[in-house]
Amino acid sequence: MYRTHTCGELRIADKGKEISLAGWVQTVRKFGAITFVDLRDRYGITQLVFSESLNSQLDAQPLGREFVLQINGTVLERSNKNANIPTGEIEIGVSSFVILNKSAVPPFTIQDDTDGGDDLRMKYRYLDLRRNAVKKNLELRYAVNRAARNYLHENNFMDIETPFLIKSTPEGARDFVVPSRMNPGQFYALPQSPQTFKQLLMVSGYDRYYQVVKCFRDEDLRADRQPEFTQIDCEMSFVKQEDILNMFEGMIKHIFKAVKGVDYTEAVQRMTWEEAMWNYGNDKPDIRFGMKVLNIKSAFTLGGEIVAKGELLAGSEFSVFNDAETVVAIAVPGVAEYTRKQVDELTEWVKRPQIGMKGLVYIRYNADGTVKSSVDKFYTEDQLRAVAEAAGAGKGDMVFILAGAEERTRKAISELRLEMGERLGFRKNDEFKLLWVLDFPLFEYSEEDNRWVARHHPFTSPKPDHIEVMIGNSPVITNAAEYLKHPYAQIKANAYDMVLNGNEIGGGSIRIFQRELQEKMFDALGMSKEEALHKFGFLLGAFEYGAPPHGGIAFGFDRLCAILGGSESIRDFIAFPKNNSGRDVMLDAPSTIDQKQLDELALKLG
Ligand code: ASP
Repeated sequence: MYRTHTCGELRIADKGKEISLAGWVQTVRKFGAITFVDLRDRYGITQLVFSESLNSQLDAQPLGREFVLQINGTVLERSNKNANIPTGEIEIGVSSFVILNKSAVPPFTIQDDTDGGDDLRMKYRYLDLRRNAVKKNLELRYAVNRAARNYLHENNFMDIETPFLIKSTPEGARDFVVPSRMNPGQFYALPQSPQTFKQLLMVSGYDRYYQVVKCFRDEDLRADRQPEFTQIDCEMSFVKQEDILNMFEGMIKHIFKAVKGVDYTEAVQRMTWEEAMWNYGNDKPDIRFGMKVLNIKSAFTLGGEIVAKGELLAGSEFSVFNDAETVVAIAVPGVAEYTRKQVDELTEWVKRPQIGMKGLVYIRYNADGTVKSSVDKFYTEDQLRAVAEAAGAGKGDMVFILAGAEERTRKAISELRLEMGERLGFRKNDEFKLLWVLDFPLFEYSEEDNRWVARHHPFTSPKPDHIEVMIGNSPVITNAAEYLKHPYAQIKANAYDMVLNGNEIGGGSIRIFQRELQEKMFDALGMSKEEALHKFGFLLGAFEYGAPPHGGIAFGFDRLCAILGGSESIRDFIAFPKNNSGRDVMLDAPSTIDQKQLDELALKLG
């Protein structure tokens, strides 16, 4: 037996016990004839004391950092107690030891605050994983996984594995493909998600399915994306949207409780996609704070009813606003006293290419009730005060206004709102705010292909009262500039996203389950009958054999863990992540393969 206890286990109550420990040498400190060693394992650190009698053995076999050590000894009370660690009241008087393995000097220190840069740590990820900070993240990941599984199991969900080698049907992201040796010239694809399989399982009668499953998408990696990532993927039969929302609201609340001890008792807020875009400029708003967008002028209308407040700034010669498609504002609390320099810096911030605005207009609502603005010349003080108040500003607040093309300006005001929320400390890591965003558009216009693409995926059903619009109208877009006026632009989907603190953590939909409607959907997406049959014949076929109504959702497991762990980066919560160029720097993958392998696969490189 290598060990009787772990390095995080022994306490003062164990005083006098004869024990054995095994672990890694964290530090070695010599004090005269006595040697102190901190021994570390997954569970903690225990201090060892080697007395003079072991010195000749230590001289013959010196200990170094990260050596694997096994010791036998007695639990002693420490004279110099360390209140910072759970084992701090004891130490082990070592009677004998064995070096189980030596270690080269590690390239960085195995400590919470390591001196290793990102690349180095990723290259030696197996050492990085020894660090407490990383270990805590993986522990959290496991806790989230366990909580989700427990909840789903309690609710009759069955974990069913689906294949990784499937058929390439690029729609959405690009597929990773795998050549087939036994079928030369043919390729499998790795699944972007188990979407069609889980739907087939519904046809097969497995009415509650889940899987914690890898998904693969060959996308350009923006920050915080991985080419392979994990979803908690779920599907249910005989459900309406409301059933899904309730079930998975329950799952997230269960996870909060089990992992963070947080009782999220309030009902999860809901808003439509249009409301989210209108009030926050964003389909995944962070609702931990206010600062709602004031729509002064907008090409986007809320449900076709609520129109922008153009009258607030009417009758002026200010061409920047007069000529813009969209003019939007937010009121930022308590910053009326921002200096010129601070405003200039923010102006530069909105002019950065990522935001892409031409400038920033401000209205200071001073503490004494006076109003000052960078557009004083063009508007009366009363007009400016009216804008400030409509944006929700009070004395001491500052209003920022952006103007430009609809899509870009709406995105920019959302970014500015988030940035100000961050700067003012409104985005607290330990506060959790969930939100359902509902009623997404079914289609999105693809400028590149001049056609409609599925906003979610092609299996999402239209809202029942929008089916007529889809069936009764041709998908052809004759006037690309006015695509928003096409009837398809108004069709809403039975689709929903769950948003946590401004991050989309899950998304799903009620599915189409009739062959005719699914065929109509493929047609709307510009797919010919032959192409639809070639790609999705299996699904269309299955829908002819008693497909039940069904719907589901998938949660981004890595991201959920990162948010619960208070981190920006999903990589910190993945044991062996890829870097931003999609490389595994430890394995040095992807890499070339042998000519022999290429030949076997009947592949010729160009
Ligand atoms: N398969 C979908 C996705 O990966 C989620 C779903 O509709 O359940 O986004």
